[in-house]
Amino acid sequence: MKWDRTDTIGLAQLSCSSCHGYGLRLVRKGKEVPCRCVFRAAFRACYNRFRDCVAATGHIGTVSLERCNGRDGRRVYSRKREEYMADFCLVSRRVLDELEYQIFRFHFLLGADWKLCCRRLGMSRGLFFHAVYRIEEKLGRTFAELEPFALYPVDEYFGSMVHHESTPRLPPGRSGSERRMVRLPVSA
Ligand SMILES: [Zn+2]
Repeated sequence: MKWDRTDTIGLAQLSCSSCHGYGLRLVRKGKEVPCRCVFRAAFRACYNRFRDCVAATGHIGTVSLERCNGRDGRRVYSRKREEYMADFCLVSRRVLDELEYQIFRFHFLLGADWKLCCRRLGMSRGLFFHAVYRIEEKLGRTFAELEPFALYPVDEYFGSMVHHESTPRLPPGRSGSERRMVRLPVSA
């Protein structure tokens, strides 16, 4: 994703002390880059969709993290929502360092509040929230700049995967654990 003014202004926070809702901030030599609040907003949009997917598919335990390669080299997953959830988790695992990932897992995936996270990780409240900001920025940027299928904008991600809708559905009566292992054929 190439960030232009339209993208950034739509995501920027009016109350942001760096960009004041403009969405871009000046760096060296007069160059403008997207503000951190823009990346955080992109992350929030992806995270909200992730939570919707979790709610729609049951619970997080059903997320398939299995990867397999089709003939065209693209990854295929059993279902679109599951693919989104898997990408959300896998990309985060890859991008975050060890401590950031632990915070991400406890706070964003398992829903622990800051008190629980701080106690569990032996952190102060300030350090925790600084880390959460950093995680949101890092992931928001990564989700938006990911290739070939960026997770942000979320609607484009789901739009680009429409061809998977035509893949065969499972016969009824399969258990959840079996469904997780299914690999769909890739059309040539
Ligand atoms: Zn800003």
